[in-house]
Amino acid sequence: MDTAALPPLTPGTLYLVATPIGNLEDITLRALRVLRECDVVAAEDTRRSGQLLKHFGISRPLLSYFQFNEARRSEEIIERLRHGAKVALVTDAGSPGISDPGERVVKAAIAAGLRVESVVGPCALVGALTASGLPTDEFHFVGFLPHKSGQRHNRLTALQAVPGTLVFYESPYRIEKLLGELAEVYPARDVVLARELTKKFEEFLRGKPAELLAVAAKRSLKGEFVVLVAGADAPSFPRSDSTSIAEEEELEDGTAPSSAG
Ligand code: SAM
Repeated sequence: MDTAALPPLTPGTLYLVATPIGNLEDITLRALRVLRECDVVAAEDTRRSGQLLKHFGISRPLLSYFQFNEARRSEEIIERLRHGAKVALVTDAGSPGISDPGERVVKAAIAAGLRVESVVGPCALVGALTASGLPTDEFHFVGFLPHKSGQRHNRLTALQAVPGTLVFYESPYRIEKLLGELAEVYPARDVVLARELTKKFEEFLRGKPAELLAVAAKRSLKGEFVVLVAGADAPSFPRSDSTSIAEEEELEDGTAPSSAG
């Protein structure tokens, strides 16, 4: 496909540009073109996005746009768009607006009658869900739970009635805490931990919450995680086709009897 034949960027458009969540090969050709041709890149962390641009040999003015200046910066971005600027919005990783800044300026742009385009690409939620083995036809994205224990428990309990696969983002510092909470609220459900997606140590750990807790007790779980919980009505995970958690752990320990041959 000849990208040179594509029309130039449209003045007065806000481009939401997805960027890699680990593997730099995951940037799209369109993302690179938008970043190269825009007037300004609004970035959650200008230093980090500056490094990304530099890696791809792109040099554009950067404007900080993060949680605590979103309101002020949104107005400024809207003004620029009204004057015909082409603005790219990026976050530290993945798709803007998904547990990341973005929603506010998108709403403001729409309210001002301006054009918004999604330059689609990496998103941890989609990467985790599609490879999880859990139903993908219906899912509920929760994102991050609140930090306070009581609020977390209430939220988890309220989600029991939600149909479809539940998808959470969680920090490595709270992953064991979340597994403990899932063991209480969802003891019988299949859970998948999608760790370090697109990176060297990417792995999927599958099991009941208590089984995954046992894994966490044996080895510290590090890195970035998406946690998926099977919906109330989901069929049980097809264990016969895949290595169970327990078997995987034995293989890692070297304690598993050899099944080769
Ligand atoms: N906007 C991003 C997206 O499109 O996925 C999400 C940003 S949010 C601040 C960061 C969280 O996303 C992490 O705490 C983790 O839960 C998840 N995440 C991001 N990159 C990941 C990766 N490579 N592997 C697993 N989870 C990841």
